[in-house]
Amino acid sequence: MKIDFANLTLAHQEYATEINVAIQKTIEKSHFIMGDEVELLEDELKNFTGSNHVITCSSGTSALLLALSAIGIGTNDEVITSPFSFIAAAEMIAFLGAKPVFVDIDPLTYQINPSLITSAITPKTKAIIPVSLFGQPSDMDSINKIAQKHNLIVIEDGAQSFGATYKEKKSCNLTPIATTSFFPAKPLGCYGDGGAVFCNDEHIATKIKSLRIHGQTKRYEHSYIGLGARLDTIQAAILRVKLKYYPIKISKRNQVAKLYEKYLKNKSVKLPIIGDHIQSVYAQYSILSADRNSLEKKLKQNNIPYAIHYPIALHLQPCFSYLGYQEGDFPIAEKTCKQILSLPMNPYLSENEIEYISGVID
Ligand SMILES: *Cc1c(COP(=O)(O)O)cnc(C)c1O
Repeated sequence: MKIDFANLTLAHQEYATEINVAIQKTIEKSHFIMGDEVELLEDELKNFTGSNHVITCSSGTSALLLALSAIGIGTNDEVITSPFSFIAAAEMIAFLGAKPVFVDIDPLTYQINPSLITSAITPKTKAIIPVSLFGQPSDMDSINKIAQKHNLIVIEDGAQSFGATYKEKKSCNLTPIATTSFFPAKPLGCYGDGGAVFCNDEHIATKIKSLRIHGQTKRYEHSYIGLGARLDTIQAAILRVKLKYYPIKISKRNQVAKLYEKYLKNKSVKLPIIGDHIQSVYAQYSILSADRNSLEKKLKQNNIPYAIHYPIALHLQPCFSYLGYQEGDFPIAEKTCKQILSLPMNPYLSENEIEYISGVID
């Protein structure tokens, strides 16, 4: 059996005719930068999430950079985020000269633990970036409440959770600002790099739009120092096709998760726990194993692809050594890094394949 981790090949084949037409049309129009498809996609993303403003951009990382820049994050500011994540949020905080301040995670959901946030707030704290990890939103009610009390802005890093819901509301519309990524392997991926910023404040939206094009407010008049961070028209055209079918993909991913649960529930590994009132998009199906080394060996022997998201907690990354964190500072994140393992997850996995994968696991 040859199992594919994310199965981007089948994802293309399923809608190949429609996607190829969309690509071809874009090429024929030759409006490669900020073509009509970009604004059309932004409108569709607004409808999908319920967010007032959507600004597409060149990646999930640039989305974070645009969002943080728009609210003026810089030197002397602190921004609270999770140490158990992909590096982008902490990296963009640091890239702007601000200080990433880590707060340990909840051992069950792997999301930032709201009950630990308040004690990390200082007079320099300006924002909180909860990362909606593995496809489910963080505990946004609690986080928003803390932020309101301390006058902080919340930016959801929804790179892995686009399409998920929290109390009937869509991820990327749960906080004043949110970002997502359309990196090919994300739940909604394009055919290269892509991302978007979501917000409900018109002022911030206008500034982000300007920052995306070199801080331009009029042609060749630059009010801010910005970036070249637009989404290609071709990527927008592809995403418009994929977005139409995305709800089907979300329910398929949930079916795959249910099947994993069926075949793994009596095993020694710990299965993902989804918070109350949440529908996950299962960007990853990540389990905890007390003996990950032997699990990895068995998966390798049986030709089953897997990934470790993430092997090193962010506070222990060499690039953040200047922050002065030590091993032991965030015990839950550190322990999770040692035990976590992501199994193949995509809408095309069959029950047979899931049964086969699960059969290899103790
Ligand atoms: C993938 C990812 C990003 C970055 O997105 P890119 O489009 O690759 O720049 C940011 N945050 C999280 C949590 C991610 O998983």
